[in-house]
Amino acid sequence: MNHKEMLYEGKAKKVYAMEDSDLVMVEYKDDATAFNGLKKGTIEGKGVVNNLMSNYMFQYLEKKGVPTHFVEQIDDRHTIVKKVQIVPLEVIVRNRAAGSFCKRYGAKEGLVFAKPTFEFSYKNDDLGDPLLNEDHALALNLATKEEIDQIRHMALTVNKEMGELLLSVGIVLVDFKLEFGRLPDGKIVLADEISPDTCRFWDAKTGEKLDKDRFRLDLGDEQQGYRELFKRLGLEK
Ligand code: ADP
Ligand code: UDP
Repeated sequence: MNHKEMLYEGKAKKVYAMEDSDLVMVEYKDDATAFNGLKKGTIEGKGVVNNLMSNYMFQYLEKKGVPTHFVEQIDDRHTIVKKVQIVPLEVIVRNRAAGSFCKRYGAKEGLVFAKPTFEFSYKNDDLGDPLLNEDHALALNLATKEEIDQIRHMALTVNKEMGELLLSVGIVLVDFKLEFGRLPDGKIVLADEISPDTCRFWDAKTGEKLDKDRFRLDLGDEQQGYRELFKRLGLEK
């Protein structure tokens, strides 16, 4: 693992420079935060689950035609990815009402949508990641119209492919957040992570929450929820 200096430490991951300046190494931590950093804690083993699950999903999605930043898993917590310029949009797809959708619109948790919704917020911690529409994103030069169209198409493909995969192991994909990045040639790829920290996963039979809501809502035993997902996907060693 020939990494150089740490470039960035975020809430859930550290990012290191590599000899090859087109790559970075990501390290997944056990630190957990919610409500824009207001709630803090540790979920033992979370970093391992998130690393392995993200890599599994990225490789699966590549096969389904979605280009991603994934290059190579180094160990349980470390992965080499293509370095991208992150598009500062948190892209959210929802299949059912949960979280801020319920808070914002007074919808009942679990309401099933006739078709998936697509939204994004401005990835800016200081502003609390405010919701914004396409015109706002264009006005702020966060992305071009072509990039936004591509991102929407890719996000909906991720929803379809990941939703079907999860349903086959008894899990409902309620909603999730994606980040996209630009490669040096301008190509848009799926970046960051896809994990129980960034998705809502419910057991299809019981409705049990198997994701970060256990931490957000103090439902207890977060580790067990993360592990259960791991087991269902056949990732447990
Ligand atoms: P946050 O910044 O929200 O606290 P993390 O702790 O997950 O989030 O930090 C990881 C950071 O690395 C995020 O800012 C994310 O946008 C960024 N990132 C993810 N994938 C890549 C990539 N391929 N190249 C460069 N930066 C990336
Ligand atoms: N999400 C995320 N990071 C964020 C905000 C949301 O990964 O900064 C994910 C969250 O885990 C959920 C989806 O995006 O799967 C929709 O989240 P929502 O807008 O309902 O906000 P939250 O309930 O997290 O406040």
